Amino acid sequence: MTRVGVLALQGDVREHLAALTELGVDAQAVRRPGELGAVDALILPGGESTAISNLLRAFDLAEPLRARLSDGMPAYGSCAGMILLATEILDAGAEGRAALPLGGIDMAVRRNAFGRQVDSFEADLDFAGLDSPVHAVFIRAPWVERVGPGVQVLATAAGHPVAVRQGQVLATSFHPEVTGDRRIHRLFVEML
Ligand code: GLN
Repeated sequence: MTRVGVLALQGDVREHLAALTELGVDAQAVRRPGELGAVDALILPGGESTAISNLLRAFDLAEPLRARLSDGMPAYGSCAGMILLATEILDAGAEGRAALPLGGIDMAVRRNAFGRQVDSFEADLDFAGLDSPVHAVFIRAPWVERVGPGVQVLATAAGHPVAVRQGQVLATSFHPEVTGDRRIHRLFVEML
């Protein structure tokens, strides 16, 4: 059975583990390089991409994770997780503490693109391949400013991509883990 990890350094780890468990997936928290080596795919949760990046550096996980992604490990990132899966981060944060672009999807992502915490919002979005809109929760969310040729845009908001896929790597600016709708997690699980 495919084992799916959830990067468990900071953010809404518990919500992603619960979503996977609800779908009958063998889900595992990942904090150490050895735990990363034991999973077949990984979810990078929402949270704060700079905080997660600092912990990735502190736990010696940044390079192993970059290597797994470049070897083609399937991954899904929501919000902060989307930022980390980019090849380029705009407004990445202060030097030395900036969010780390780990790769996975050939895209440039702008942090906090929709504004500050008070500009958080919810919207019903058309999502490619789903037959009814997704109720999307955006919390100090990023948007995508550039995608490479292999990247499929699955949903947009305010004229920018907010859900994208390249091969077996999926990313959303919003947080399906905080709603009861499991269709995005199911899409990821079906990609594996
Ligand atoms: N603004 C956050 C960041 O830069 C992301 C917010 C979120 O994950 N809800 O990482």
